[in-house]
Amino acid sequence: MNIAKLTIPEVQDGLRRKQFTAVELTTEALRFAQAENPKTNAYLTFSDERALAAAARVDAKLAAGEQIGSLGGVPIAVKDVIVTKDVKTTCASKILSNYIPPYDATAVERLEAAGGIILGKANCDEFAMGSSNENSAFGPVRNPVALDRVPGGSSGGSAAVVAQGTAVVSLGSDTGGSIRQPASFCGCVGVTPTYGRVSRYGLVAFASSLDHIGPFSRTVADSATLLGAIAGRDERDATSARHPVPDYAALLGDSVKGLKLGLPKEYFAGLAPETGDRIMAGVEILKQLGCEVTEVSLPHTEYAIATYYIICTAEVSANLSRFDGARYGVRSSKSDTLSDMYKNSRGEGFGTEVKRRIMLGSYVLSHGYYDAFYLKAQKVRNLLTQDFTKAFEQVDALITPVSPFPAFKIGEKVNDPIQMYLSDIYTITGDLAGIPCMSVPCGTTPDGLPVGMQILTKHFAEDVMFRLAHQYEKAGGFTA
Ligand code: GLN
Repeated sequence: MNIAKLTIPEVQDGLRRKQFTAVELTTEALRFAQAENPKTNAYLTFSDERALAAAARVDAKLAAGEQIGSLGGVPIAVKDVIVTKDVKTTCASKILSNYIPPYDATAVERLEAAGGIILGKANCDEFAMGSSNENSAFGPVRNPVALDRVPGGSSGGSAAVVAQGTAVVSLGSDTGGSIRQPASFCGCVGVTPTYGRVSRYGLVAFASSLDHIGPFSRTVADSATLLGAIAGRDERDATSARHPVPDYAALLGDSVKGLKLGLPKEYFAGLAPETGDRIMAGVEILKQLGCEVTEVSLPHTEYAIATYYIICTAEVSANLSRFDGARYGVRSSKSDTLSDMYKNSRGEGFGTEVKRRIMLGSYVLSHGYYDAFYLKAQKVRNLLTQDFTKAFEQVDALITPVSPFPAFKIGEKVNDPIQMYLSDIYTITGDLAGIPCMSVPCGTTPDGLPVGMQILTKHFAEDVMFRLAHQYEKAGGFTA
């Protein structure tokens, strides 16, 4: 078995044909992942015991002739901002370096209920803040496609394990592009579902009004299966949607003929040809499949980055106030008074980017600036959302680049936070509007670096998005 290339249907086929048991597959997956990990640093923690126990349950079900679930026996990695009971969850931060959660996130509970096997926890930017995975307190992740380059961020580890073949699929989180951008940098599929489609219970909060959990995979069908397993209402997250969850994987085969696609002109202006040419080649394939393509406009796009960095930092400053050395994680030993203990624990525990955001967020919420920054940003967020609503009156889906450039070299942008923030220009709009969006591989630059094409649809139209991506993939889109 070539474990590095397996898909969900291949795992399940192998189990049914008794080519391997779930315990054998899991043992081999753990061995392979642990042997390969020093190359990329994509896993922070391995959960061997939990994985083997879950695999034994799958084998018992198989032996009893019971259903093993849509993820039965599938080796999965989970981003380290999603809590796992009894398995260390650090958010790639020093402040949580010793945190062992007493409960599971809903998404984790659901993927195990569907038979999934959690191999371990994936590295990421600290508290998911970043675009390159260089903000991890436990060292950067290397892109398996080009080891001197970043895998993107913040879910860099989740993308790298799928690209490297050390997990079949993985879970990441996306607040401003953290699933799609690393997927595009590493050449895999990455999906940000509609806001509220997947419960955020147990996702350590970064910016609650923007945070999403979503899948990474090597095929579109595998992301559809994984999302189907974790989506749906959860009473423990009031923002989780009651909307019924369709069988995404079953709908992939429907034709895309006659679907109307929009190319937002603001997303193509000034795009370098190494990326732009790949996206346009992808659009050609979609045209050949019978889609109609028109130009549309999302006129408020230029305000998206400023809006995002006001709203997300405001929410960060509130959400991260819970980490003070008193209740969670590491406490500084240097303090004589309570307030010194808070200050020292936070000062020693948080990295530079997290501190920068807490300060920015406290500023935009402070008296006298709240109206000028935070309130105004909320209004602009509405305008950005309306741009999409209007576009979806004309078209079924939008096609755009994911990132203005492919994976950059490790160290290239670390000292320039503004450059780093600009790299999210095409992805943060989808999060601000809360619509589903995904990155699907669409070939490589002349240097062999992967390029991702973004597909966006209206709220809860994941089925249309998956269908387009799947038909595109079948038509040879990946190697275009
Ligand atoms: N790169 C963006 C940021 O740093 C997005 C991060 C994310 O989506 N978690 O905020």
